[in-house]
Amino acid sequence: MNQDVLLHIDGRWIEGSSNQTIPVINPATEEVVGTAAKAERADLEQAVAAAVRGFQIWRHVSAFERGKIMRNAAVLIRERAEQIARAMTIEEGKPLAQARLETLSGADMIEWFAEEGRRVYGRVIPARTSGVYQLALREPVGPVAAFTPWNFPISQVVKKLGAALATGCSIIIKAAEETPASAAALVQAFTDAGIPAGVINLVFGVPAEISEYLITHPSIRKVSFTGSTAIGKRLASLAGLHMKRVTMELGGHAPAIIFDDADLETATTLLLAAKYRNAGQVCIAPTRFLIQENVYENFVDGFVGRTKALRVGNGLDEATEMGPLAHDRRIAAVESVIQDAVDKGASVKAGGRRFGNKGYFMEPTVITEAPSDALAMNVEPFGPIALLTPFRNFAEAVSEANRLPYGLAAYAFTRSAKTAIDVAAAVETGMISINQTGLALPETPFVGVKDSGYGAEGGSEGIDAYVNTKFVSQAGV
Ligand code: NAD
Repeated sequence: MNQDVLLHIDGRWIEGSSNQTIPVINPATEEVVGTAAKAERADLEQAVAAAVRGFQIWRHVSAFERGKIMRNAAVLIRERAEQIARAMTIEEGKPLAQARLETLSGADMIEWFAEEGRRVYGRVIPARTSGVYQLALREPVGPVAAFTPWNFPISQVVKKLGAALATGCSIIIKAAEETPASAAALVQAFTDAGIPAGVINLVFGVPAEISEYLITHPSIRKVSFTGSTAIGKRLASLAGLHMKRVTMELGGHAPAIIFDDADLETATTLLLAAKYRNAGQVCIAPTRFLIQENVYENFVDGFVGRTKALRVGNGLDEATEMGPLAHDRRIAAVESVIQDAVDKGASVKAGGRRFGNKGYFMEPTVITEAPSDALAMNVEPFGPIALLTPFRNFAEAVSEANRLPYGLAAYAFTRSAKTAIDVAAAVETGMISINQTGLALPETPFVGVKDSGYGAEGGSEGIDAYVNTKFVSQAGV
C-alpha cells in the first residue's frame, strides 16, 4: 500500500516547491510505505495567504451552515473508517481495532463541535442608561497554526480542527511527518464535504522551520501545539513574544493510585488497557502505579501475569493487542530509561527488551523498586513501561503523585467515597479519573496544569480557546 501525501494548500493537493519528500516508515516492518511532501518557505507563504482568504470566507458562513459541512465530513470519515484505520496502523503501528476506534471517535468529535459551534453565545450586560445596549460578542480568533504529533494522527488533529472550524477560524495544520496519510484522509473528507478552499491547509516539513515561520507570522492569531514539554515551552515563549493566543497540550507522567479498598480486578483490567494502549505512547497513560502496601504483592502478581500474556505484533493482525513503537527514536529512549532504572536497583518483572529482527517492537514492561531518582520515574517514558511502587498511607501517595512538575492525568481506585473526594482534591492535575479511565470525550475538557500545559481541548472550554470577546456598547441615535 503506497501512502504518498502532498501538501494541501488553498483547496489543492500540491507538491512542495522543492519537490522534496520525507519518507514514511511502517514501524512494524521498517519498510518505506510512502512519503510526505516537504513544505518550503514559499509553500508556507502560500498557506498563510490561503488561510487569510479562507478565514474571510468561513467567518461569514453561519454556524448553522458550518455545522452542516462538518457533519457531512464526519459521515464521510465513518464511511471511509476502514481504509483510514489501515493507513493509520501502517504508518503508526497501533492495532487496527485502536485505529478504527480513533477514526470513529474523530467523526464523533467533529459532530460534537459542529453542534457546539451553534452555541457560541455572547452576553447582554444591563446598561446604566436607558436605551444603551452592552453586548459581549464572541468572534473567531483568526487563522490558526496547529502542530500535531504522531501518536494519535486523527484525534490530535480533530480536537484543534473541530474547534477552529466550529468557531469560524481557518487553520494551517502541521501534522506529524511520521503519520501523514491519516491527516490527509481527514482533510480529504472535509474537502469532499464542501469546505471552501483555504479554510483547511495541511503542511509537512522541518517542524522547527515551520513553527518558527507560522508562529511569528502576523496573520496567524492562534497557536495550538501537542507534543513534549520541552518543545512546548520553546513554542509558547515564541508565541508570547508575538502576543499569540496559545493552547499547549504537553507531556504527562500520570500517577495511578490504587488504595487497599479498591476493586483490584477492575483496577488491573482498566489500567492494563490504558497502560499498553498505543504501546504506551499516550500522554495520559498511567505510568507511576502507586499501590497501598497491603495489596501491593497481590496487584503486582496480577498485573505482571496479565502483561506477560499480551499479544504483541503487527497491528494489521487482528489478534494483536499491542503494536510496535512508532519510530526508532522511541526504542532508543525506552531502552535507555529501562537500563537506567536497572542500574539504580530496580527490578524488571516483565518484558524489558526489544525483540524481533525487524520492526520497532518492545516488550510490555513492568518495573518494581525503581528509586525516585530513576529517569523513568521523572521523564515521560512514552512507551510500554509500568512502574509499580508501594505506599503506606494517603499522604505518602499524594506526595509522590505531586512530586513531578507534570499535571496532566491521574487515576485512582478506591471503594471509599471519602477517599475519592479527597484524592480528587489533593492531586495537582488537569484531569483525574476515579474507578475508571474515562478521559478525552468530545464533550469533556482535556486539560493540563503545571508543565503539562494550559488551555483545554474538548468540551465548551475547547471552544473558548478559539474565540475573542468583543465588547460593543451602543446607544440609539
Ligand atoms: P519530538 O519532541 O521531536 O516531537 C514531538 C512532536 O513535536 C512531533 O510531532 C514533532 O513534529 C513536533 N515538534 C518537534 N519539534 C518541533 C518544533 N520546533 N516546532 C513544532 N513542532 C515540533 O520527539 P518525538 O521523538 O517525536 O517524541 C518525544 C516526546 O514527545 C515524547 O517522549 C513525548 O514526551 C512527547 N510527545 C507527546 C505527545 C502528546 O500527546 N502530548 C505526542 C507525541 C510526543
